[in-house]
Amino acid sequence: METVAYYRRSTTMQEHSIELQRYKAFEAAKNHHLIVEKEFIDDAISARKTSIDEREQLSNLIELIKDKKIKNLLVYKRDRLGRNVIQHLKMYRIFREYNVKVIFTADEELPMNYSSNGELYEIFIGCMVQLEGKQIHERIKAKREADFRSGKNPGNLPYGYKRDVSNPEKAIIREEMQLSLIKEMYNLVLEGKTVEQVMTIIKSKNKDRKWTAGHIRELLQNPTYMGIRVLHFETSPPITQEYKVLKIVDKKTWETVYEKVEEGRPKVNKRKKKKLELDYILDGFVNCTKCSMPFIGSYSKAIYKCNKCKSELNKDYLEKLVLEHALEYIKALVKTDFIRLFNRHQIKSKKALEQRLAVLKKRAESLKEDLFCNISEQIQKNLTTENNTHEKIVESYKLLKNKELEIEYITSEIFSLEQLPKKVDSIKEYMLKIDNLQDLINFKSKDVLFDIIKTVNVEEIYIDLVYKYPFSGIKEAHLLGVK
Ligand SMILES: [Zn+2]
Repeated sequence: METVAYYRRSTTMQEHSIELQRYKAFEAAKNHHLIVEKEFIDDAISARKTSIDEREQLSNLIELIKDKKIKNLLVYKRDRLGRNVIQHLKMYRIFREYNVKVIFTADEELPMNYSSNGELYEIFIGCMVQLEGKQIHERIKAKREADFRSGKNPGNLPYGYKRDVSNPEKAIIREEMQLSLIKEMYNLVLEGKTVEQVMTIIKSKNKDRKWTAGHIRELLQNPTYMGIRVLHFETSPPITQEYKVLKIVDKKTWETVYEKVEEGRPKVNKRKKKKLELDYILDGFVNCTKCSMPFIGSYSKAIYKCNKCKSELNKDYLEKLVLEHALEYIKALVKTDFIRLFNRHQIKSKKALEQRLAVLKKRAESLKEDLFCNISEQIQKNLTTENNTHEKIVESYKLLKNKELEIEYITSEIFSLEQLPKKVDSIKEYMLKIDNLQDLINFKSKDVLFDIIKTVNVEEIYIDLVYKYPFSGIKEAHLLGVK
């Protein structure tokens, strides 16, 4: 036996159905030119299962690995193997010792490797998974995907179909009268009728709904009628699945009609659909304080929008406000003795930051050592009290990660301070050329904004403009405490 797959479903959560794990395993096997010779299934929900040990098959699998019978293991994600960092690491060491190639079949799972840094890497990934709660989202997504793929849940269906919600299997009901109307629409377009003509004919036949050309176009271009459903996700590409029971026209008919409808689209609509090509000079600067999310320039309207709370700000209003302010600010700086100020700022800040950096680096080193000691200690203790101890590891990992983020931040601050004299010159030069707001907008404003503005925080009732210089850097350097 060379290649095996392992699937697990726990009792605690409705997630990662066995079908999905199997589907993914076979898909991955195909991609790696492997053949799954045996499947190990730990299904705690399945009625056939009588053993108390939820992970009986996993133990069998490990026995086979130790007998050197397995080369490749296909598994959905790390969390199928171990329930926490320690368990996971134990598994990792077995795989490494017996040189088992582990192939994760979930799309976003990072690969496992046995390089010198591999173990540390596994610890970090294990901790991260526990820390960031990313799994919950992934699980919901995986469940939706599995139901969709297995034909259980096609999503919201268009005109002509109904779902029997009272039925646990949520059977699909075809409304044949409605479907024959839709079929007629396809035939009319194939005969050469325009969507507007189709609308007139359908209106006279069926008064159930207000038939509009836009609505008819939408229906005719819906792939459901050729038996294909598309499932959309917020953060990953959509997936498609065939639902034969929904099919009323063949693929060729559907595609021909799709093209005809597209060709016949009124010109105005085409233009309307095109995205606005506006230059959002504040993209990357504006933040929604409430949601800690960026305000992003919209493609359909001249607005900056927070995609979480849906707050929006008029583009011209916001840009004018910020630029006016920035202009005033720079003018005031030029009038004052700002070059000297900048230089003083640079020297003082750099010194403070470098000291801070040295302390942080030392602290991070000792945290790393602690983490390693902790882990090897736990593994040697044979995991008797694992539930409390892995939390300790996660805790020290958290500390280490924070320190690393601070180090990164301070390093970039020092770098930008080193660039400061050059920037001061260019800002000054720039200011000599600018007289009014319009000039500022016309110039390459974004470059200058990057040099001057740090962020624009949009709060409930006011907008908070944060400048980079000359004092903000010093303040931050002193605020950074090392605990
Ligand atoms: Zn928001």
